[in-house]
Amino acid sequence: MSNVELDGLRARLDEINGQLLELISERAQVVQEIGAVKEKQGVPKFDPEREKQMLEKLVANNKGPFTSGTIRTLFKQIFSASLDLQSTDHKKSLLVARKNHAEDTVIVLPGNVTVGGLSSLMVAGPCSVESELQTRTVAAALQKAGVKVMRGGAFKPRTSPYDFQGLGMDGLRILREAATAYGLLTISEIVDPRHIEEALDYVDVIQVGARNMHNFELLKAVGEVNKPVLLKRGLSATLDEFVHAAEYIMSRGNTEIMLIERGIRTYEKSTRNTLDISAVPILKQECHLPVLVDVTHSTGRKDILIPCAKAALAAGADGIMVEVHPDPATALSDAAQQLNIDEFNTFFNEVKASGLYR
Ligand code: PEP
Ligand code: MN
Repeated sequence: MSNVELDGLRARLDEINGQLLELISERAQVVQEIGAVKEKQGVPKFDPEREKQMLEKLVANNKGPFTSGTIRTLFKQIFSASLDLQSTDHKKSLLVARKNHAEDTVIVLPGNVTVGGLSSLMVAGPCSVESELQTRTVAAALQKAGVKVMRGGAFKPRTSPYDFQGLGMDGLRILREAATAYGLLTISEIVDPRHIEEALDYVDVIQVGARNMHNFELLKAVGEVNKPVLLKRGLSATLDEFVHAAEYIMSRGNTEIMLIERGIRTYEKSTRNTLDISAVPILKQECHLPVLVDVTHSTGRKDILIPCAKAALAAGADGIMVEVHPDPATALSDAAQQLNIDEFNTFFNEVKASGLYR
């Protein structure tokens, strides 16, 4: 074959490549348009039946030289690339996505306490609000230590219905009174959308617990109020599910959301859950929301809280949550994992001394 002939064929190949590129790009655009229509209709983007029909039609029209198998493989690749394109677009369009909002969201709580941004936040307090005395004792210690935000559960989602279920609204009142007396803010879990309205007077931040991360009606309901939300990662939730749970809240208008990694279920038994440190930089990269780490529930072990808190801060966490009880041995929930007041002071001092707590 002469060089002229070869050059001619190569030029023809370049031309066909160009045409193929134009056609697959045009095809991708049509797929995106279909995706937008499906999104409006609320139907799934992937339609295996339709994909099968398209492949069968292509195979039937195939005149060679490619085999039917090769045609299937080639077109399946094109189909899946188009579908991927839709999911990337979808991620980009999430309200919680950093791609959409480059700056860190900084939540300003009453008293100018900020979450996210330049300073770290320590959230501490009992697993459950048990009594006025217990709550006030912790509040006094936290104020003395310089903590600004106290946690305390009033509605407790317990594994057994026979275990202490929390004091309910009375617990929220006790928490609020103790917090106000010691100049603290409050975080408490709400498990039922019907309790939100009444709880607004008692909490500065509504906590959505790990067991309720998939409770979409609760997520929508907290999305409709004007109160910051602390959203815990579900026990077995992927980060994608976690991010979408936050999106449920934000899509209803509430933009003040903090995410908190609290450990996930794995086969590892030496800790109560497995603290997924990698969640911190991934969430910070993908979302613009503050990210905290609950060292208590993720580890369930008092002896490793200090290194775990340091690791969380080193990985970019905006804050730490830890459980503190005046007398953990007698606690009505999570007795084994709560710090007593002296232990908390040592913990907080060590975390601050690391230089990682800003
Ligand atoms: C809590 O923080 O009180 C709690 C119950 O934690 P989680 O939802 O992470 O289990
Ligand atoms: Mn607890």
